Amino acid sequence: MVRERKLTARQSDSSDDDLGDDPTLEPTVEPKAVAGDPSGPGENDSVLRPRRIADMVGQREVMEVLQIAIDAAKKRKEPLGHILLDGPPGLGKTTFAVCIPRELGVKVDMASGPSLKAPKEIIPYLTNLEHGSVLFIDEIHRLPKPVEEFLYTAMEDFRIDIVLGEGVNARTLNLKLHPFTLIGATTRAGMLSSPLRDRFHIRQHLGYYNIDDLVEILGRNARKLNVELTKDAAQEISKRSRGTPRVANSRLLWVRDYAMSKGDGRINLEISHRALDMLGIDEIGLDRQDRRYLETLIRVFQGGPAGLEAIAHTMSVSSDTLEDEVEPFLLRSEFIVRTQRGRCATMKSYSLLKMQPPTRTPSLFDALDG
Ligand code: ADP
Repeated sequence: MVRERKLTARQSDSSDDDLGDDPTLEPTVEPKAVAGDPSGPGENDSVLRPRRIADMVGQREVMEVLQIAIDAAKKRKEPLGHILLDGPPGLGKTTFAVCIPRELGVKVDMASGPSLKAPKEIIPYLTNLEHGSVLFIDEIHRLPKPVEEFLYTAMEDFRIDIVLGEGVNARTLNLKLHPFTLIGATTRAGMLSSPLRDRFHIRQHLGYYNIDDLVEILGRNARKLNVELTKDAAQEISKRSRGTPRVANSRLLWVRDYAMSKGDGRINLEISHRALDMLGIDEIGLDRQDRRYLETLIRVFQGGPAGLEAIAHTMSVSSDTLEDEVEPFLLRSEFIVRTQRGRCATMKSYSLLKMQPPTRTPSLFDALDG
């Protein structure tokens, strides 16, 4: 039996509805938008999200590790050890966090790091946990330090110490918690303090998906959406999805809309080309925002080195968006490099944008030397 609840930071939702395996009941997971895409996942996110680990595609090594841990925990009849999942957005961290409790037959509460501003806001989550249930904290690297410190004893000894009153009258209340499993998700594993990181028993990194995996995901999702999708169209959408299932889903939803509006609703290669070209998504999956980033770096900052904040201010985009959603793919595709002195465009960026590179790239080499 799986129950999923969305709790506000201050108050726990005491609804005890049994969501079971009823596919019509939506997991209470906030859909996350894909930058620059008019057809974000929206409510379709919950329709497309796999419900079981076996329904998930790719990430085989992570899956194997988790399956073993789940299996052992079930056999021992003990709660699963705490799990930390890291990797760029849209690769399946939340999906794992939703599927794991289902495998275990326990309920899950979902919270997010930035919404837990003070220790008192995490207390309802901890005290409401049942034996063996799961607490999922998304963006765990954004937990304020006092909240993070509060988690140490909760994770290690399943207890919390609450200080009541002040000064000489202060008393410490020792509260025992039910043994539980914390699943933390982060896009920035490096920002996690080592005391917190060390308290996770299992740490897994989610990497980008290959084309075959994305084709498989798109095929399954086209069936869920009841739309006809040809193999070559699935391959084309996958190629333009930056190795990320969330992006692939978002592109699929947009192409589906386009096919319904401009065609007979069926998605073939030509419709996919037209739909994705219209959004400015190129053959390798770069969108307008990615190209604007590269243009800004080259035109305004002469190719760099430029600081993230400076680029973000010039583009009027938050530096978090750039660092989490734009830069990982540009770095991985070698369009930019990160140096101690800032970001630098590579020759690949100049040729992509058909811009004249400097005869030598002093900024890049100077930055690497410096
Ligand atoms: P994250 O939490 O890492 O940002 P999510 O778990 O929210 O990413 O994944 C975004 C969407 O991508 C999900 O709603 C789901 O539809 C899809 N997805 C992610 N991982 C997989 C996978 N391994 N198999 C199939 N679909 C996936």
